[in-house]
Amino acid sequence: MSTLRFHSLKETLKRKPLKISEPKKRSDLFGSNVFNESSMRQSLTKDAFNSVKSAIEKGSKIDRGIADQIASAMKDWALSKGATHYTHWFQPLTGATAEKHDAFFETIGNGQAVEKFGGGQLVQQEPDASSFPHGGIRNTFEARGYTAWDPTSPAFIYGTTLCIPTVFVAYTGEALDYKTPLLRALQAVDQAAVAVAKYFDKSVKKVNASLGWEQEYFLIDSSLAKSRPDIVLAGRTLLGHSPAKGQQLDDHYFGSIPNRALSFMSDLEKECMRLGIPVKTRHNEVAPNQFELAPIYDEANLAVDHNSLIMDMMDKIAERHNFKVLLHEKPFAGVNGSGKHNNWSLSTNTGVNLLSPGKTPMSNLQFLTFFVNTIKAVYEYEELLRASIASASNDHRLGANEAPPAIISVFIGEQLSAVLKELEEVTKGKLSPQEKTDLKLNVVGKIPEILLDNTDRNRTSPFAFTGNKFEFRAVGSSANCANPMTVLNSIMAKQLIDFKNEVDTLIKKKDMKKDDAIFNVIREYIKTSKNILFEGNGYSEEWQKEAKKRGLSNNKTTPEALKARVAEKTIRLFEDLDVMNKIEIEARYEIEVEEYTMRIQIESRVLGDVARNHVIPTAVKYQSILIDNVRGLKEIYGSEFKKIAKEQLELIAEISKHIESINSGVTNMTDERRKANLIKDAEKKAETYCKKIIPYFDKIRYSCDKLELLIDDELWPLTKYRELLFTR
Ligand code: ADP
Ligand code: MG
Repeated sequence: MSTLRFHSLKETLKRKPLKISEPKKRSDLFGSNVFNESSMRQSLTKDAFNSVKSAIEKGSKIDRGIADQIASAMKDWALSKGATHYTHWFQPLTGATAEKHDAFFETIGNGQAVEKFGGGQLVQQEPDASSFPHGGIRNTFEARGYTAWDPTSPAFIYGTTLCIPTVFVAYTGEALDYKTPLLRALQAVDQAAVAVAKYFDKSVKKVNASLGWEQEYFLIDSSLAKSRPDIVLAGRTLLGHSPAKGQQLDDHYFGSIPNRALSFMSDLEKECMRLGIPVKTRHNEVAPNQFELAPIYDEANLAVDHNSLIMDMMDKIAERHNFKVLLHEKPFAGVNGSGKHNNWSLSTNTGVNLLSPGKTPMSNLQFLTFFVNTIKAVYEYEELLRASIASASNDHRLGANEAPPAIISVFIGEQLSAVLKELEEVTKGKLSPQEKTDLKLNVVGKIPEILLDNTDRNRTSPFAFTGNKFEFRAVGSSANCANPMTVLNSIMAKQLIDFKNEVDTLIKKKDMKKDDAIFNVIREYIKTSKNILFEGNGYSEEWQKEAKKRGLSNNKTTPEALKARVAEKTIRLFEDLDVMNKIEIEARYEIEVEEYTMRIQIESRVLGDVARNHVIPTAVKYQSILIDNVRGLKEIYGSEFKKIAKEQLELIAEISKHIESINSGVTNMTDERRKANLIKDAEKKAETYCKKIIPYFDKIRYSCDKLELLIDDELWPLTKYRELLFTR
């Protein structure tokens, strides 16, 4: 360990934990920095308030006069809270959030100034956003893009800035962000689910998709994190030998939260409260210095915004506590990576969770309808769902025996499997009235009781039913949830539309009663989609084989997985639902493919640099010390020296071997990179990076990590895993 670094570690350890001053009640803070319904009700005229409400609930237009009124009320509210600036806050396809702050302040001549904010500024802005990723959309069409207010996600104050959630679109209307397709998908699933829910309750007018995410992350001392070029530039360690102690004792999981981390969490939670983010749970995760934060679930668009906001806030608040937050899916080899479970359900404006079994056979038939349709949707579009969570960083996690595999399957538990089996096995053709009654009483009627003790939870499944919601567990910790949520809600919308058509056809053409028709279609779906159901160990070898037999996709790398994004079937899905057109789909694909290449390229460069500039020179230095030592021994012992210096001689040879291996690895990797960079086609380039460059990472790392074990700790220039993971 170098002296310099030792000081910074010592400093860190000396630092007293920050005082945690809790307000009396968190609930008093809740939403205090949000221009929510109650602040609107207080400051808007009845007309203006109703107009916003209807925009939120029905997507209706807000006219210019009313927009002026809302803007003015919003400004007064923001100024009263100490805000000085405003910004259109959006989520471009970089994965980060974007904002450009403008002051409310304006001069009005005669040396005077006022605070101004009109409807025009609220509703639409034109940020100079030419360097946001657009996948060619703005080259081909119109150079400009604009942001437009999303009234369904309330404005909030962050620091001294009023942030107005917006969509970001090209002048020609193509989406350039994550939010636009999500809003369209949510609208599609709303319409489709309302139509189906009306079979059971005519008064249903709206169906909301809910999302409850669980954010995992690592919290690393910031001075230690800064000392690692790989963490600084790639967000993860590219080398580092695993420490003598890792997570094998499981002593961190749910253990007491270290003081410094607690003080960070407390600050973060307070800020969340002010911003109306209902964070509820926090705990240690499996790996050392790994934690989780989860809010109470919310309407999906709002929950996505909250997650984007929180990822940004974590970074800023961590700085105040001398921490660096790592959101990367696999920051450290040898210990668990981080995910972001997406808990998803659908609920009606009448307060019914459509994925929760009810008290009567009829409400259970409704439950079964939505439950089986979800399974069918995932079955039909498993490959697209896999693509929705594909990224260079998530590739490390999926299938690494700590997270779900790259194969998408659905876990529903033993009891519900039995229910589906029973439903499937009733006679082939149309259900007889007796069968229907039996089913209702014997199978459907029992579901709530069944679920009460259905506590079995298979942690290895990427998509699991957990009582009253599905949990999509393959989502990566650094992902924007909008991506998987857009896909999940779109495939569900498509599925429900198909279902309704089939049921209506049976009712009209076969003269079936509504319930019979529903039963019959559900039964067919159970049969056709049962290949997606899997209750066993998702981490096992056998599942890989079995899944192959079943014809399920197993796209292990991002370039392979992403292809489903532009498959004919995907284009048809998104175009039919008006979620995205072909141009938008292809643009996104291009952006994701290029992003993949860039990430691997950066990692490859950083690894090459660290190996050449840090590891090899240190190895040479240490080897020289050994050589001097051997020379000295030879002087003293003459021909006897070989026996005495045996260990040193072996070390010298071993170090040479690793230096050679690193050297050839880096040289060959750089050559491959140069060749790959000449490839014009983005898809081929990404594939080449995946197949030709990534394999060098392990080879180079292997020798670097061996050297870390061989070389004097005093000399080793990089902060070690034990320091990164166990400094609190
Ligand atoms: P886990 O055991 O995976 O930690 P929890 O029971 O703690 O699961 O719930 C995790 C998340 O699921 C929370 O964010 C919670 O708000 C969310 N959740 C609970 N019910 C629903 C629902 N009906 N729809 C969507 N999310 C939900
Ligand atoms: Mg979970």
